[in-house]
Amino acid sequence: MSLVEAVGQLSPTFTGELLQPTDAGYDEARRIHNGLIDKRPSLVARCHGTADVADAVKLARELKLEVAVRGGGHNVAGRATIDNGLMIDLQPMKGIYVDTRAGARSRKVASCGRNSIARPRCTAWPPPVASSARRVLPA
Ligand SMILES: Cc1cc2nc3c(=O)[nH]c(=O)nc-3n(C[C@H](O)[C@H](O)[C@H](O)COP(=O)(O)OP(=O)(O)OC[C@H]3O[C@@H](n4cnc5c(N)ncnc54)[C@H](O)[C@@H]3O)c2cc1C
Repeated sequence: MSLVEAVGQLSPTFTGELLQPTDAGYDEARRIHNGLIDKRPSLVARCHGTADVADAVKLARELKLEVAVRGGGHNVAGRATIDNGLMIDLQPMKGIYVDTRAGARSRKVASCGRNSIARPRCTAWPPPVASSARRVLPA
């Protein structure tokens, strides 16, 4: 199966974006923090949830594509991207969960960075949680 066919099959259920080199937004999506790194993945899978990540991994396995995982994209060596492979981009998956059963411990999700946990973005600190594990901050 070709990459184009695989993307066509996956597109109806993939909730994020699947960007190939000819797609609008590809160049922006492949860019990382270190501007000296200029790699061109065959596909950028901008994942919006764990199901998207699972599908992207499955696609890479089927097409025997090497994978690079992008969190914040700040790794200076440019490990978040790859030539001729699949970039699994977790940037859209920002969030913080607080598990009240575990006391004050929180769990960062995917590309959640320092700005995402800045106190001014919360109405109260520590953030209020009603259930045992709940998303408390917007992306
Ligand atoms: C200007 C600047 C300031 C910084 N300041 C700080 C700071 O204050 N504190 C601090 O701790 N760090 C700092 N760093 C370092 C940076 O935050 C770290 O390199 C961090 O680990 C990058 O995380 P990321 O999510 O952005 O990784 P990304 O760049 O998104 O990289 C993805 C990660 O996944 C790994 N990966 C990719 N593909 C695969 C694969 N197929 N299998 C397994 N693993 C894979 C890569 O090796 C890489 O580690 C700074 C970096 C810069 C450039």
